[in-house]
Amino acid sequence: MEESTIEKISQIVGPEYVSTREDVLLSYSASASTGYDSVKPSAVVRPGSTEEVSEILKIANDVNLKVTPRCGGSSLQGEVIPVEGALVIELMRLDSFELHEDLRSATVGAGVTFGKLDKLLKVCGLWLPVYPESSLVATVAGNVAVNGAGPGSTAYGCIAEMVLGLEVVLPDGRIIQTGSEANPNAPGPFLRYAFGPDLTGLFIGSLGSLGIITKVSVKLFKRMEEFHYETYGFQESEQAQKFLIELKENNVNAVFASIYEGRILGFFMDMLGEEYHIPEHDWPPFTVSITLGRLREDQLQSDIKRAAEICGGLEGEVIGISELPRGEWDDRMRTFARSSYAHGWHWRILYHHQTPSNWHKSIEAIWDVMDEYALLGHTAGFATGHSSYNFYPHLYYFPEDKEEERRVREAHVDLSKRLFKTGAVPFKLAPYWVNGVDEMKEYMNVLKGIKDVLDPNGIMHPGVMGGL
Ligand SMILES: Cc1cc2nc3c(=O)[nH]c(=O)nc-3n(C[C@H](O)[C@H](O)[C@H](O)COP(=O)(O)OP(=O)(O)OC[C@H]3O[C@@H](n4cnc5c(N)ncnc54)[C@H](O)[C@@H]3O)c2cc1C
Repeated sequence: MEESTIEKISQIVGPEYVSTREDVLLSYSASASTGYDSVKPSAVVRPGSTEEVSEILKIANDVNLKVTPRCGGSSLQGEVIPVEGALVIELMRLDSFELHEDLRSATVGAGVTFGKLDKLLKVCGLWLPVYPESSLVATVAGNVAVNGAGPGSTAYGCIAEMVLGLEVVLPDGRIIQTGSEANPNAPGPFLRYAFGPDLTGLFIGSLGSLGIITKVSVKLFKRMEEFHYETYGFQESEQAQKFLIELKENNVNAVFASIYEGRILGFFMDMLGEEYHIPEHDWPPFTVSITLGRLREDQLQSDIKRAAEICGGLEGEVIGISELPRGEWDDRMRTFARSSYAHGWHWRILYHHQTPSNWHKSIEAIWDVMDEYALLGHTAGFATGHSSYNFYPHLYYFPEDKEEERRVREAHVDLSKRLFKTGAVPFKLAPYWVNGVDEMKEYMNVLKGIKDVLDPNGIMHPGVMGGL
């Protein structure tokens, strides 16, 4: 990057917030994604306000400089890794918090992590009930940019369902506000679908390629204190799937629900069994692990009873081991995935959504690929809202075995193709979907048209959203 550009950016944010130091560039060359090659940016800037972000983007446009927005850097598909020579715009200094208690909403700056938000909300008995399992470092804005999901999603859906509006700096530096706050006289965020078509949705899941989210307004809920943790066993996958569907139909409030088949459960027990003090058990072929959550004890008791009846009606058994769901829920802000890091694994992940009734098709595709490519791996997943089920299969490799890593990369693209055929849909529009799936061509052309209008010089995080 030209010295003169650095100088101009430095005048906007102050010299202490721009760096071209090698060790700093190295830190911003990678993310939590162990399976992706790191790429060093040419500089890192840490703006302190929306206006500064806007001024930086104007300069970037003038000199045709590629930029990469970054918040917590905890994403797992390489989506925060810059292109060669890009400017990383790190937004963690935007840490404002505004509570609108009467509107049951809050507006947070792009640098606010879920952990910090939860701490702020706890004192008022409120919460944002959808967490990624990386919440101590992941920001709300970063999660909106990837349309994440996590514990809480079983009842509340993906993070998109929580968003009431966004403040976004467009690639040319214009600042826009979406949702009810687009009216500057509004008392705060109270409605997302205002002012015609849903502009908010354009930026959710856009992976930073259409603009920089500087503030997110979210719905808040009264904090639940009543929980029950239970495991249910079934002989057939169809029974386990039906169980999840019937829980929804009967309005039983599972805040986190996962189906484990034997091979996956074995893997989990190996990672976490001891840590969560899960007793030895002769587990059935399909185990459903559930956290039920309610505001009131009487509601919770009713849910516990109804869940047991539904389980019995499907010839299942209430196992009575609570440590697995309790561990998942209580640990939701720190995640099971840290165990993978602790084991030193490197992996590529393939986030996708299925329906509960298609759940097993994903598992079959995943095992087929692992067996055909002779790879080690596993998958985890959980119910995410109305009728969807989120999966995140991991394909593991030994980092020094280049041949195995090559096979993992190939298997990754192949798996996306096979999953698409089963009816699965991308969770994040990572490039491997587009590389593998021909049926997405027209859809991608439309997205490209939108990208070209908003970002005619192609400076915003090129390549990340399906290669655009
Ligand atoms: C152990 C572990 C567990 C995880 N569990 C989950 C989980 O349960 N659910 C889940 O959804 N994810 C999970 N993740 C992935 C990741 O942590 C989340 O998706 C997280 O919300 C990303 O937020 P971030 O602030 O770290 O974003 P980053 O990694 O910094 O960025 C993610 C993407 O969004 C873009 N971006 C970031 N900030 C902005 C912005 N302000 N404006 C526009 N674009 C932006 C970036 O360019 C990049 O493309 C997990 C990760 C780890 C390491």
